[in-house]
Formats: sequence, C-alpha cells, structure tokens
Amino acid sequence: RAYNFNAGPSALPLAVLEKAQSELLNFNGTGMSVMELSHRSQAYDEVHNKAKQLLKEILRVPDSYDILFLQGGASLQFAMIPMNFLPQEKKAYFVLTGSWSEKALKEASKIGKTDVIASSKEANYTHIPYDFQTENLHDAAYLHITSNNTIFGTQWKKFPKTNIPLIADMSSDILSREINVEQFDLIYAGAQKNLGPSGVTVVIIRKDLLEKTNNYVPTILNYQTHANKNSLYNTPPTFAIYMLSLVLEWVQTEGGLLKIEQRNKEKAEIVYRAIDESEGFYKPHAHQDSRSNMNVTFTLPSKELTQQFLEKAKEQNLIGLNGHRSVGGCRASIYNAVPLEACEKLAQFMADFRKKY
Ligand code: PLP
Repeated sequence: RAYNFNAGPSALPLAVLEKAQSELLNFNGTGMSVMELSHRSQAYDEVHNKAKQLLKEILRVPDSYDILFLQGGASLQFAMIPMNFLPQEKKAYFVLTGSWSEKALKEASKIGKTDVIASSKEANYTHIPYDFQTENLHDAAYLHITSNNTIFGTQWKKFPKTNIPLIADMSSDILSREINVEQFDLIYAGAQKNLGPSGVTVVIIRKDLLEKTNNYVPTILNYQTHANKNSLYNTPPTFAIYMLSLVLEWVQTEGGLLKIEQRNKEKAEIVYRAIDESEGFYKPHAHQDSRSNMNVTFTLPSKELTQQFLEKAKEQNLIGLNGHRSVGGCRASIYNAVPLEACEKLAQFMADFRKKY
C-alpha cells in the first residue's frame, strides 16, 4: 500500500479496511452488506448506536451533550451554525486562522452580524493568534475557532477560556488528542481525516444550546430535528457511520486516545526534525508554538525543486505531499492512520533528497 500523506480524504487504518472487507457481503449474519440494511433495522440500529457510544466513551463526552451524525460536510456546518444560533440582535465572533475559518466567517456574514476578534491573516496564517480578550463582548452569540488549520499547518495548543459559547471546527484534528469537551458548546468535524470516510459529519453539542435553535430554520437544517430523532430523521450515511464505528474500535484496540496522541506527537517530531535539521533547505510554514501535529507544511528553495521533490517522493511510494493549491510548497498530512514508519520513511527521503539536490 501507498504511504498516504493526503490531506483528506486520507489514510484509513489497514485493520479497519480489512474488517470492512471481510464483512462487506454478509454483515453480522444478515446475508447483506451494511450498505443494504434498512436504516430502520435492528442490525443497523446497533451499528449507529455503537458508533455514538464509542465516540462518547473515547472523547469522554458528558451526558449534558448530544452527538449527531449529519451530512453536508463541515461546510454545511459553516451555514447551519449561524442559521440556528445567530439571532439578529447578536454577533458571531471569529478567530481567523486560515482558509477554513474565513469560509466559516463568510457563511455567518450572510446570516447575521459578525466580527473578527483576532487574526493571523497579515502574517499569512503562520501562527495562532492566542492573545485576545472576550470579557467585554456583551453582544456575542458565540466565538468560532478552527482547532487545526489543515491548509496552513497550524494547530491550537491551548483553547481560549471564555464565557461566550465556544464553537470549534475540529475537522482535521478531532480524535488526534485528548480534549476537554466541556470547554466547548459545539464541536463539529467532517469525518474524512481521523474519523472515517467522507459522508458523515460529527456534531457534539451541549443540550442547553440545542434549546436555543431558531424555529424559522428549515426542518432538515435544525439541530433539534436530528437530536430528537437520534440522527435518524432521514436516511443517514449508513456505510460511513459503520466505518466510523470500526475506526473508533481501532482507536480502542490501539490503547485509546492518549496513546494515539503520544504517537501523533512522536510522528510529528520525526518530520519537523527533518525540516529543522535541513539548514534552511526545508522551511517550515508554521511558527514553533503553533505547529500542527496533523499537517506539516514546508517549502523548498524553488518551484523546480518542489516539483522534483514531489516526483521523486512518488517514486518511493510517498503519496499526497503537495501543498494546498492556495499555499504551494509541500504538506505531509500525518493523521491517526498514518503509521510511524511512514514518517520515518519520509524523513529519510527528505534527508537524502537534500543531500542530492
Ligand atoms: N474545515 C476544515 C478544518 C477542513 O480541513 C475542511 C476540509 O478539508 C473543511 C472544514 C471542509 O470540510 P468538508 O469538505 O467536509 O465540507
């Protein structure tokens, strides 16, 4: 198999794919694939509730929160959040840390009043702007942050302590490290990085926030609709939820979230070391205090060398290292399912390439 450094959809654990393969034609003695089960059947119900229960256990989600399985990706959440939780008289505040937070801001601005409380845009999003105050924002509906910036390769190391409802897009680092769910009022994530294949979006929401949804929002876009029906209001993405349950089981067999977090740190250190020891040949995009353990972004001395780097890497089966089209350079996405060995192989390749070129 390829050493897969794609940013998303991205690598899945081999054990998960093998389990899915072994059950593909006959799931749990049903004589059917999971894909063929009615979403109202008991067999599917067990899959659905297992995924929810495992997520609750692994992320230690308190009973005062609901877990929803939605569709439309994180991008639909950009719109759904303000539609539900941004009343006319209030304002949604944003910390801008990259393209995805810009997109979240753009959608909220179509619905109501917004403001940017901190931003690192002027510095080309090289760091997380940790230094801001929220005490005097009396008109705030919520504060929105992006916990990991997939494109720029920065990640919040500590989250803001605030009295304002805190909403986080965790699409690219959910399940990569331990978090205190109680610091947040709403967490959302498209599944296609650490959680499973694309198609399902996980939302973790405080139950008392659910009570504040705007009644004028169309039924399908109202969080209450999905919470009241255990995310079975309409046909859910059953196969993606099944894959999510397998990924969550895999996290448990790997020793749980803390183990995963430690391994992710180790993996990231290997790649950042290859950058830091390159005497300026590879330049990191992110400042030290904001470096992402999920997406390592760097540039080479020229476009030609970058092209050559990507071609030679591909020959070594190191796939998906090109940077996002808006930033250029290179990006190694090293999500949970990317093995340590892949990072070692990449670091070795980086050292060899530098010596040669
Ligand atoms: N937010 C972040 C941080 C992302 O990395 C992405 C996709 O890469 C998105 C939002 C958009 O997610 P989706 O494609 O599920 O709408």
